Amino acid sequence: MMDRMYISPAYEVVRDAARCTTCRLCEQQCANGVHAFDVRTGRMTADNGRCVNCHRCVCMCPTHALKIVRSDDVYPENANWDAQTVNEVYRQADSGGVLLSSMGNPKPQPIFWDRLLINASQVTNPSIDPLREPMETRLFLGKRTAKIERDKNGKLKNTLAPGLTLEVPILFSAMSYGSISYNAHACLARAAEELGTYYNTGEGGLHRDFYRYSRNTIVQVASGRFGVFKDYLGKAAAIEIKMGQGAKPGIGGHLPGMKLTADVSETRMIPQGTDAISPAPHHDIYSIEDLRQLVCSLKEATEYRKPVIVKVAAVHNAAAIASGIARSGADIIAIDGYRGGTGAAPTRIRDNVGIPIELALAQVDQRLRDEGIRDEVSLIAGGSIRSSADVVKAIALGADACYIGTAALLALGCHLCRSCHTGLCNWGIATQRPELVARLDPDVGSRRLVNLVTAWKREIQEMMGGMGINSIEALRGNRLMLRGVGLTDRELDILGVRYAGENM
Ligand code: SF4
Ligand code: SF4
Repeated sequence: MMDRMYISPAYEVVRDAARCTTCRLCEQQCANGVHAFDVRTGRMTADNGRCVNCHRCVCMCPTHALKIVRSDDVYPENANWDAQTVNEVYRQADSGGVLLSSMGNPKPQPIFWDRLLINASQVTNPSIDPLREPMETRLFLGKRTAKIERDKNGKLKNTLAPGLTLEVPILFSAMSYGSISYNAHACLARAAEELGTYYNTGEGGLHRDFYRYSRNTIVQVASGRFGVFKDYLGKAAAIEIKMGQGAKPGIGGHLPGMKLTADVSETRMIPQGTDAISPAPHHDIYSIEDLRQLVCSLKEATEYRKPVIVKVAAVHNAAAIASGIARSGADIIAIDGYRGGTGAAPTRIRDNVGIPIELALAQVDQRLRDEGIRDEVSLIAGGSIRSSADVVKAIALGADACYIGTAALLALGCHLCRSCHTGLCNWGIATQRPELVARLDPDVGSRRLVNLVTAWKREIQEMMGGMGINSIEALRGNRLMLRGVGLTDRELDILGVRYAGENM
């Protein structure tokens, strides 16, 4: 009996011998140790079992001699037991451990964004040309006023709690220092500042070098309270209480110990090299009243100058939960769908727990409207927002703005190899190894993020103009601008959207 079972590799490195000059650049570029030079034969070799298909070597090979293909080292075909499932059973039988994964749920479950189509004006209602006419993408997150009041001198009375101003309805979602690198954080912070939006520290604390971006920083208070102290709260534009995350609803955060370097440990205020596993619940929150206590405490600690966001994972009773949060004193609710990314999560949780953001968002917006409290809070939707079209659809379903995480990392070079939890990110994003971190240039990375969001902003303006709508505010919750295709009556009902071809 074998103590450890042979695991069939998922990928295979194909090297064109005629093109390979044995320059060994692939060997230097691969932190997974796949490539090696065989002195005996004078040729490069590959250990396929280590390859995670991050495409770094493929992109860097100067003679284009490499490609990565799905391995044909297969088990007997079985529709019920595919190779990945078999390998996972072998791994667990080898180790007795919970399987860890990263990034978002890759399973082929329905993507409702792709079943929703956007309206456009034709003949009887004019479209708006965003190149020639004003098209407002600036928006405000936080409580809205129910009525306009003036003082005795006719000046507007402003009794609103402070909110956030965004030049574009997109924010960078929570990614902690530790989970991602210092340079990745620098890219996000600089891009947020340039774009007039916000990035989010996640639950990893705030490195002092980034204090200068405080006007564009959202700091997180999660169940582990890593890195939370007065200066941290003081250096934020807003504070986000993380109750849950789409990739791992119901459990705490997880940063494998090998990513907890000295600098990360100092920022998080926890010992170096230890697994940072934050508790599943906040141990002081067991009800909406408890949540209210924390919202009030954070506001008091920051002299009522900063809005508080409560982030929850999209789960079955998201609408009822959101209704409670809206009454807790929070200014903004962030809902994170089950396809959202993560630096590390148990595979089973990532792939099986939670619900799609589209359904949760539609239900939350409707519930808050039905209860007459929609203006008490703003909504941020996240969890696999992949394009400007997803942003437009999310806003039409009721979001005020969207968090993007995976798309932002893709802009930085991520190739979705889903091995962030190993700390060996060859693109310098989800790693703390100095030689890998140095591969991500903050000048280049921040420019690419600015390009991405600017491109999306232009596309959003085009789509809004096509609908005859000239502001994000007018699009928010405007479900008449959406029609469904390939959806059941039940799904349409939950989304609050009519079928394609149905009249207004
Ligand atoms: S892990 Fe990445 S760099 Fe290494 S061989 Fe595979 S694709 Fe190339
Ligand atoms: S961030 Fe890096 S390790 Fe994570 S999926 Fe992307 S390329 Fe892979």
